[in-house]
Amino acid sequence: MATIVEYTNKRSPLNMYPRRIVSPVRGKTCCARKMAQIGGIEHEGERSYFYRRCKLCGYTVRHFLSAPPPDRPSGQWEDSSKSLLKLVG
Ligand SMILES: [Zn+2]
Repeated sequence: MATIVEYTNKRSPLNMYPRRIVSPVRGKTCCARKMAQIGGIEHEGERSYFYRRCKLCGYTVRHFLSAPPPDRPSGQWEDSSKSLLKLVG
């Protein structure tokens, strides 16, 4: 299944998880601290991920558990990523 996230700057951010999410094209500095998991763990092939969405600007990424997310904004995610990894074993 393709991602449910639509990246656009032409519409307001929208969270209609699990059906659809409208996200700004790029994250901002708020995202490093305001990102929160939405939904549960999903699977694509052999990879597992969940969606993380910024409560402030709506920027959404897929957070892969088996590999670093390809499009994470620069920021300090390392600590939360590690603790999340512990949660899923
Ligand atoms: Zn943000």
